Amino acid sequence: MQIECPCGSGLGYEECCGKFVEGKAHAPTAEALMRSRYAAYALKRADYIVQTALHADNRDSIASWMEKAEFFRLEIVQTKRGGVLDKKGIVEFRAWFKEEDEEYILHEISAFVKRKGRWYYDEEGSETVTL
Ligand SMILES: [Zn+2]
Repeated sequence: MQIECPCGSGLGYEECCGKFVEGKAHAPTAEALMRSRYAAYALKRADYIVQTALHADNRDSIASWMEKAEFFRLEIVQTKRGGVLDKKGIVEFRAWFKEEDEEYILHEISAFVKRKGRWYYDEEGSETVTL
């Protein structure tokens, strides 16, 4: 039996974010990329986070943070553009995680851009608050 997708879609991982995280397809929309990046955080797949970022972050620092943080809930607040025909998109979300027995909510307005037909997370255009 396959696992349920961490992004909370209710679908199995393989038919949801797994297609993108496992490299079988590219996320068609900004929201799909955002969800798959969340799933990669939940499943501790640092390579996917680096591959899908416009400004490639330091893989080791991502990987070591992932080891400590347990992501357990995602809520998409809203999306603007980011569709299959767009070149830019915004996805606002809240992601819940635990780190050393403390619960946190990461609230982010994420910017995404499409380059050569693929969506990337644009860290420099994004705003993050952790509560
Ligand atoms: Zn998913």
